[in-house]
Amino acid sequence: MQPSLEKLRKFFRLEHENKYQNTAIIGGLAKMLDYWEGEARADGITEEVIQAVVSRLRSYEKISPDGRAESLKGLWKRIGDTYPEAGQKPKQAQPQQTQQQPRPQQQQQRQQTPPPVQEEKPEGQQSQQPRPAPQPQQSQPQQQQRQQAPRQNPPPRSEAVVGAKHSQTPAALSAALTVLQGVGPRNAESLEKLGLQTLGDMLYYFPRRYEDYSQLKPIQSLMYNDVVTVLGTVQSVHTRPIRGGKSSVIEVIIGDGTGSLRISYFNQPWLSNRFKEGDAISVSGKIDQYLGRLVMNSPDWEPVEVENLHTNRIVPIYSLTERITQKWLRGQMNSVITYWAPAVVDALPETIRRAAQLVSLGEALTQVHFPDSQARLKLARERLGFDEIFYLQMGVMRQKRDWKSVDGRRFPVSDEWLVARLGTLPFTLTSAQLTSLDDIRKDLDSGKPMNRLVQGDVGSGKTVVAALGANIVISGGAQAAIMAPTSILAEQHYRNFINLLAGDGGTMSQSEIRLLVGNTTESEKEAIRQGLQDGSIKIVIGTHAVIEPDVLFKDLQFVVIDEQHRFGVEQRAELRSKGTNPHLLVMTATPIPRSLALTVFGDLDISVIDVMPEGRQPITTFVLRPQERERAYTLIRGQVKNGNQAFIVYPLIDESEKIDARAAVDDFETLSKQVYPDLKLGLLHGRMKPAEKDEVMLKFRDKEFDILVSTTVIEVGVDVPNSTVMLIEGADRFGLAQLHQLRGRVGRGSVQSTCLLIPTREDATENERLQAMATTNSGFELADLDLKLRGPGEFLGTRQAGYATTLKMASITDVKLIEKAREQAQALFERDPELSQPEHALLAEAFERFWTGKGDVS
Ligand code: ADP
Ligand code: MG
Repeated sequence: MQPSLEKLRKFFRLEHENKYQNTAIIGGLAKMLDYWEGEARADGITEEVIQAVVSRLRSYEKISPDGRAESLKGLWKRIGDTYPEAGQKPKQAQPQQTQQQPRPQQQQQRQQTPPPVQEEKPEGQQSQQPRPAPQPQQSQPQQQQRQQAPRQNPPPRSEAVVGAKHSQTPAALSAALTVLQGVGPRNAESLEKLGLQTLGDMLYYFPRRYEDYSQLKPIQSLMYNDVVTVLGTVQSVHTRPIRGGKSSVIEVIIGDGTGSLRISYFNQPWLSNRFKEGDAISVSGKIDQYLGRLVMNSPDWEPVEVENLHTNRIVPIYSLTERITQKWLRGQMNSVITYWAPAVVDALPETIRRAAQLVSLGEALTQVHFPDSQARLKLARERLGFDEIFYLQMGVMRQKRDWKSVDGRRFPVSDEWLVARLGTLPFTLTSAQLTSLDDIRKDLDSGKPMNRLVQGDVGSGKTVVAALGANIVISGGAQAAIMAPTSILAEQHYRNFINLLAGDGGTMSQSEIRLLVGNTTESEKEAIRQGLQDGSIKIVIGTHAVIEPDVLFKDLQFVVIDEQHRFGVEQRAELRSKGTNPHLLVMTATPIPRSLALTVFGDLDISVIDVMPEGRQPITTFVLRPQERERAYTLIRGQVKNGNQAFIVYPLIDESEKIDARAAVDDFETLSKQVYPDLKLGLLHGRMKPAEKDEVMLKFRDKEFDILVSTTVIEVGVDVPNSTVMLIEGADRFGLAQLHQLRGRVGRGSVQSTCLLIPTREDATENERLQAMATTNSGFELADLDLKLRGPGEFLGTRQAGYATTLKMASITDVKLIEKAREQAQALFERDPELSQPEHALLAEAFERFWTGKGDVS
């Protein structure tokens, strides 16, 4: 084995013995890269392997010990693919999973693939001509490798050149920021607070926004409120005291031949000797007015002979932290971008770039920081957004394939059995429910683990579909677990499951279905743990309580997660890990536009329940002006008189915030004392303890309150069929999805329900979102509209924990781009799912970097 690999192996073993605490090397494993990379090159290790090692180890410290174990195992496996002699030795470094489930296809491909052509030092990056084929005077191991590998499809030349260039860039980009002039340990520490540790981080630290100072204007044509850059010569500089000498102001008059302009700086006396009469300066900022004359207050400025960086252009504005100024950071950014952005290697294959009409990565990184024009900025953002979606999509597709690569237990049921089950339900399933159930039934009998999302509007009846899925698995002798985000919801599901599965004609008994929430008594908890372990309990329904370590199952095969967006990746994974490759069903009531569903949930199969149960009266929605509030109150009173209940929802808890919105706590006083002194009102808000919230909610459900005054905490799936009015105050402050979710709390019974929307200000009654609410009851239609009005950002965030936070650019671009990226990713995935073809080597590394440490996305 080559000495560099031997060294690696030693450290990996040591690290394994140290339980992956990143202590095998003082300062962490990444430290070894400083010298290892050079040694490995000297050993003739292929660039692909070197880069794999570099990219994994660089992120090593950021991941959890479990992830680290996986990472090192995976890495060693990868090294073993290219250097079989390395792959065999250390037993503990062998990836266990892969031993159990070899991926024959992948291994075969790897063997056929010739190692990437090792180029000599790139001389001159401009050389686009074909380079001479590598000569066999390179180091021994290299040569042997190449002779062994059948050269079926040599890598295209141009890519090989890029590959060589690449071999230099990443190392440099991972250099610490202290290599920059003006960045010492102190500044580096501050920058680290912004997540910036390396030059590469800097490239991807995008501006928060921009000021467009690119519009130069002669002084004569300036107007009040203009945001401009003015070029002029300093005519005079005066400092004068103000506020009785406590402060001072510097007034500089500049002229440009068409007129003169006064600029002022308050309390910055040191500036006075920076301005010299006769100097040409450029100032950028907003034109203000003072005593009837146009002035500029504290504009950005710089002498004109230096290349304009802070003025006279579209200026990037970065998020800052203490001890770092905008100007300083911009200056540092500029040196990093100018030097490194053009040198960055573009991992995206030329073919894809051309097909998707994208600018190069270097151009994109340059322009996103220091745009030459709005048009080039737009192209830059498109390119960067494309990358995010592209890698995301590659990741979810791989996830899906991995998921399908293991076996799932089969749970077949006969038509007769299913028909009998359906016959015992208190209602007939809608066509959409039947289709979803059929999808689930097929999944359960496919031999692969189900990984399905059921998407359906509030009240569309997802619970019964989940219950029947569980029933199929129970009938096959296994167990099911259902996890809901709140104990109220868990309890609601519990009662539903009992009704649906353990009622007349049901196949289960009540004691086989149990509720496990935070305040379940200790003795009941113990009984549940026992029953789950010995298999006498078949279904457990609960909150986070079901993923506690001491909850163990005899044979968990079906896992349901309700309101999936409320759970983190780890929690979902934890529940799943309580069984062996169990079937997974996740449910969400947040409709995602179809055009985005495949991007956001690309790793899941999707069933949509887009039909409401029969007999459901559509909710009538009205937008009222604030002055019409009395009408709303009267309507509520009428409904309560009929024995129904009402919600009044507020965007805020109290009026501590500046925003002029009515607040729950304050209005609760007025409502209960003045408006409805004769009715029973409950109050619910986010500052209450979970137990208090539950209590109020339960009292409302049990009709102890006529009206529930609340903030948005009632949002999630609670079913109170007796409530028929929903009044939403400050409605213009809510997003469409949220309004729709809130509205879904009513209209769950057979009585006609009403939703009343009152915006904060009268002119907001024309608000497009509110009007849309009044026009349709369909969550999918509203989601499509929301996408048009606000762009994809909101929806891409739906997955939350997992990866959405890394989508910096995609969320502000448009759906067309997202679809384009997805199509390209899909096409590529079909051609080369492992990215093992040599022309995709760079892409494989970039992909790795994008995903490292992010883990499971389900
Ligand atoms: P969600 O999709 O919001 O979770 P639920 O499963 O809570 O909806 O169902 C809402 C209500 O509709 C429940 O009271 C449930 O019993 C009822 N329901 C579900 N399916 C049907 C159906 N096919 N016909 C009539 N009522 C139904
Ligand atoms: Mg539900």
